Amino acid sequence: MSKANQADVIIVGGGIMGASAALFLRQRGRSVILLERDLIGQAASGTNFGNVRRQGRYLHQLPLSNRARDIWLRMPELLGEDCEFLQSGHLRVVYNAEMAGKIEAYSKDSAPYGLDLEMISANALRARFPYLGREVVAGCYDPTGGHANPRLTAPAFGRAAVRAGVDVRENTEVTGIAKAGDDFVVEARGQGEMRAPVLLVTAGAWGGKLSALFGEPVPIAVHGPNMSVTEPLPYRIGPTIGVSTPHVHETVYFRQVKRGNVILGGYTRGPASNETNRAAVLPENTLGQMEQLRRVIPGFANINIIRVWSGVESYFADDMPVMGPSATTPGLYYAFGFCGAGFQIGPGVGEVMAELIDTGATSTPIEPYSIARFARA
Ligand SMILES: Cc1cc2nc3c(=O)[nH]c(=O)nc-3n(C[C@H](O)[C@H](O)[C@H](O)COP(=O)(O)OP(=O)(O)OC[C@H]3O[C@@H](n4cnc5c(N)ncnc54)[C@H](O)[C@@H]3O)c2cc1C
Repeated sequence: MSKANQADVIIVGGGIMGASAALFLRQRGRSVILLERDLIGQAASGTNFGNVRRQGRYLHQLPLSNRARDIWLRMPELLGEDCEFLQSGHLRVVYNAEMAGKIEAYSKDSAPYGLDLEMISANALRARFPYLGREVVAGCYDPTGGHANPRLTAPAFGRAAVRAGVDVRENTEVTGIAKAGDDFVVEARGQGEMRAPVLLVTAGAWGGKLSALFGEPVPIAVHGPNMSVTEPLPYRIGPTIGVSTPHVHETVYFRQVKRGNVILGGYTRGPASNETNRAAVLPENTLGQMEQLRRVIPGFANINIIRVWSGVESYFADDMPVMGPSATTPGLYYAFGFCGAGFQIGPGVGEVMAELIDTGATSTPIEPYSIARFARA
């Protein structure tokens, strides 16, 4: 076996989790081979909405989200590019008093975790954001939220990883992994036999296929959140805005990029598959999201959608990812299944996994995300 096929760590999957983990592991002095079936950031990491928000995340995820936020703020120095990260604020709006109570409670509960959210009443909201419609009765504003361009972000981590010395191999699908002594032996067509004592699985919606090889199957569900983008309009929205509602058909979130286009999505999702690697957009989802967008901003009544898309994303019923060491196999680590919310925390996940692999522990709590929870269940 050539020396080039040996490393301290092999990472399978080059989305934002794998690419950032590769960079941070290399910064800790580990040699790394990163294997990606297609191109870095081509799957969920490159097709997502681009929300960089802490507001609304589960409280147990806020330490990880805070860690990620520190990295988002350092993107230009870390990666040499800002990935169009715009700290333009994040606003949650609601249509009734019951939901206003819920977002107000969240603003209090999240304060000990470092969020400083501002509740805004209907009149004050319209004074600050005059484009909001009459149905909006309250909002909660996080000045530290914002958005970024997902098409740029994971590839930027991948390029920084290459510059740092990571051996990044695109168009390389892992077809087999076995443990031989202390090493993992990894197979991919045309690559020969690759070996490392540590293996990190960051294979997104495909992660469960690899964990199953080690006796750890997971009940993963695969869906495609439906996204669209409008024609360019004068730039004036500012924050990323999302509606907080218990009704899926009422959800919509949107952001305006500096070029003027409005990108929107909602919790209405289309079918997706980790066998065909395809995710579909359902026209009724796009039309429903447009209708909801008009409720939030009536001035958007007659704008045109110019493109729609989706991506393959993985979900668990408890809405938590899998992160941490394998419960069956020493040297094996997982970080996959981010349930539609992995973009903002992505760089934090990469740093935490690098810390865990390098030191055996992490200062950021991730115990709830252990893969062992499925075996217990
Ligand atoms: C349409 C959409 C909208 C979203 N919006 C948001 C949002 O606004 N905010 C937010 O926080 N999150 C959002 N998400 C979720 C977020 O994009 C994901 O949680 C995150 O990108 C997951 O990153 P990942 O690296 O784990 O997975 P992925 O980006 O899916 O990367 C996994 C990689 O593993 C590779 N791979 C799989 N199997 C193999 C193999 N055998 N060999 C080699 N490589 C393999 C795949 O090719 C893929 O590139 C959204 C997701 C989608 C799809």
